[in-house]
This record gives sequence, C-alpha cells and structure tokens, in this order.
Amino acid sequence: MTATSWKLRCVACGTEYPGLEVRYRCNCGETLDVVHDLEALDGKALLAAFEARLGSRRPLDRSGVWRYRELILGLPDASLVTRLEGNTRTYDSARVARYAGVQRLTLKHEGENPSGSFKDRGMAAGITIAAHLGMTRVACASTGNTSASMASYAALAGMEAFVFIPRGKIAFGKLAQALAYGATTIEIPGDFDAAMALVQDVCRREGIYLLNSINPFRIEGQKAIVFELLQDLNWEVPDWIVLPGGNLGNSSALYKGLAELHAMGIISSLPRIAVIQAEGANPLYTAFTTGAILEPVRNPQTVATAIKIGAPVSWRKSLRGLAATNGVVEQVSDQEIMDAKAQVDRAGIGAEPASCATVAGVRKLSARGVIHPEDRVCGILTGHLLKDPDAVVRYHRGDLEGIESRFGNRPVQAAGDLESVMALLRKM
Ligand SMILES: *Cc1c(COP(=O)(O)O)cnc(C)c1O
Ligand SMILES: [Zn+2]
Repeated sequence: MTATSWKLRCVACGTEYPGLEVRYRCNCGETLDVVHDLEALDGKALLAAFEARLGSRRPLDRSGVWRYRELILGLPDASLVTRLEGNTRTYDSARVARYAGVQRLTLKHEGENPSGSFKDRGMAAGITIAAHLGMTRVACASTGNTSASMASYAALAGMEAFVFIPRGKIAFGKLAQALAYGATTIEIPGDFDAAMALVQDVCRREGIYLLNSINPFRIEGQKAIVFELLQDLNWEVPDWIVLPGGNLGNSSALYKGLAELHAMGIISSLPRIAVIQAEGANPLYTAFTTGAILEPVRNPQTVATAIKIGAPVSWRKSLRGLAATNGVVEQVSDQEIMDAKAQVDRAGIGAEPASCATVAGVRKLSARGVIHPEDRVCGILTGHLLKDPDAVVRYHRGDLEGIESRFGNRPVQAAGDLESVMALLRKM
C-alpha cells in the first residue's frame, strides 16, 4: 500500500489510523475523518491554482471536485476517476427570494451534476479510493441518489455495483438509473435505516467496498460543493449556507470544507450553517434543540424520500459543524416542502422535494427572525426535478396524499379540434 498524505481520525475518541485501508469506523464504533496535513500546503498558491484551473481544458481541472484536488485527496492525477462532476449553476431568483423572505438568495443547483444529485462529488472520490484499494465490487444502501451515482461511477471504473434499496420507497427516476447503469439492485423490506444496517454486514462478510457517506472519502469529495460555491462567489463568504439533512454526510462535508479553507487562509470567516429536516424524519432537529445525543426516529415519514432517514450515520460530525459555525437546525412539514418546491419549479429552476426543504427552511427561519431579510443566503438544491416525476405530477394534479396542491398547475382537458382549444384559451 502506498504512503498517503492524510490520516483517519475518530470523531469521538481521536484514535488515528493509516490513511489507506478498508475501514469505515473507529474501533470504538464512531465515524472517521480524513485529516490532511494542511501545513504542507500553501493557501495562496492553492487559491491561485484553483483560479487558473477554471480556464484549463484538462479534465481534472474541469472537474468540480478534482479542480480542488490538493484539498480532496493527494493522489496521482492519472488515478482520479471523474465524470467532470460539479460545475453546477447558481441561480439568483427574485421570485424564490421573495417567497423565502430574504433579499439575496443564491441557489446552487447540485441536481445539475452528471447523475442528477450532489452525490456525484463524493462518489468521484469514493470510487477513486476503491480503485486504489484494489476493490472490484462496491455497495451502498440508498434512498435512491447514492445508488444512481454509485452505479454510474462503478460502471465508469469497471467495477461491479450492488445497491440495497427500501422496496417501493425510492423515487422512480433514481431506481431507473441504478437499473440502467447495470447495478445489481436488491430491494429489501423496511426503510433506509434497515438497508443501511444490512449493507454494512454484507460488505464486512463479502469484502465488498462500502460507499455510503459513512465512508470518510465520500465526505472528502462532497466538500467540493462548498469550495465551488465559494469560488462562484469570488471567495466572499455569505452569512448563511442552508441545506437539507438526511444521513447528514452533506452537512458534515460542508463544515469540513469550510474549516479547511479557513485554516488555509483562503476565507477569513465562516458562514452560519442551517440544516433543514422534514418533520417526520427529524432526529437531528430534536438532538439539536434538546442538546441531547441523537435518538433515532423510528419509521420516518416524509414525501421527500431522499431525507427519509431516522438514524443518520454522520450526526456527530454534523453537530460539530453546527456548533463551530453558530448554526441552526429547522424542521419543515411536507406541505411546506411541496409549496417551496412549487416555487422553485415555477421559477424555471426545478428540483426534487428534498432539495426544496432548503427553501422552505429559509422561509421559516426568516419568518422566525433567525435569518434577517438583508442576510446574504446561499441554499443548496441537492437533486434534479426529474428524479421524482411522480411527486411533481401528483402535486399538480392535486392527488398527492395529505398535501394541499396550493400552487397546482393542473393539466386541462380539451377536445382535439381547433375550435374547442380556441374556446378554452379565451376562457383562461
Ligand atoms: C442524499 C440527499 C440528501 C441528504 O443528504 P445527506 O448527506 O444524506 O444528509 C438530500 N437531498 C438529496 C436530493 C439527496 O440525494
Ligand atoms: Zn473512536
């Protein structure tokens, strides 16, 4: 095994392990951080390199993950797997900002990644490490987007993919991707948390490499969201970064990335982080507001299937980031999520339900006076509109169970001749 420039360190007890080994947890059972030797890096030189690479045609420079490779994983360039992930657009929609109750809202649309969700960033790093470890089989449990992303990157790297999904509980666009990219797709009864527990046992027994965000290298790739966001903003730090929380890998990565940029002198302050959970899947919200350790939510429920998670793996890392940035956790109802989604969609941007918890959360936090109207707010939209077409069509038709279709755009029926269509248009 090659020597690496990083170590693994337990988030709870601090025990350290060598950088490159098949290990997802500390011997004490807690999650691990990849710890870089930041002192060996020069912040000014890095910043100059990140800027210069924006004008480069090299695939690694054009990847929104490997553009920042010194802060992701210091590995030989030729070994990095990429689909040119990242490079996602930002949107400053006056319409969505008004709805959310703030003057300046920038949405970074991570649904514009190659497989349609932010998971591609972490997967680029995860699959790269799998290849370094000589693994040929990879697996994950998924509410859908992780499996879509892993199936794609595994196919790209010539690996065999095994995905464990809760039967009947993932959005159709995501299931379609896992099947299409050739993953062995194993549907199990129960929810995501059951699939997550099972896949860890399967990987241990079978020597398959686990690519859920419990894998610390996934977090390293995911950090690139905030690197790219800040570069989009010309390295000016916003007041808030707001994102949905499910398994909590993304919010953990967000903070880790910010802390590293700060340590390197690339940014001089930290934004506050707001994690938004669905009311029916809110263990972090409860832990945060009661100051207790995380109690899993049994039988989590929400229309936003990507965050329908009761026992998030990275809760400790997520709380650490919230503490360090004076962050907050908010919860929103499914109605609030779908109303916010209707606004994001209607603005011409579009995103899947979980993503829109972000906008619902900004609206709630600004109504509560936590976010001020003049604060500079950035929100992460995590997945593409077409991931969950069923939720969209049912919302607009007014038959999404338990949801009032407040901003519904019902299809209208017309006879197939010009006169009836003209009559219909004149009535509108
Ligand atoms: C995975 C996912 C989330 C939740 O991210 P975590 O890292 O699990 O907290 C939110 N939205 C979408 C679209 C996702 O795919
Ligand atoms: Zn430990």
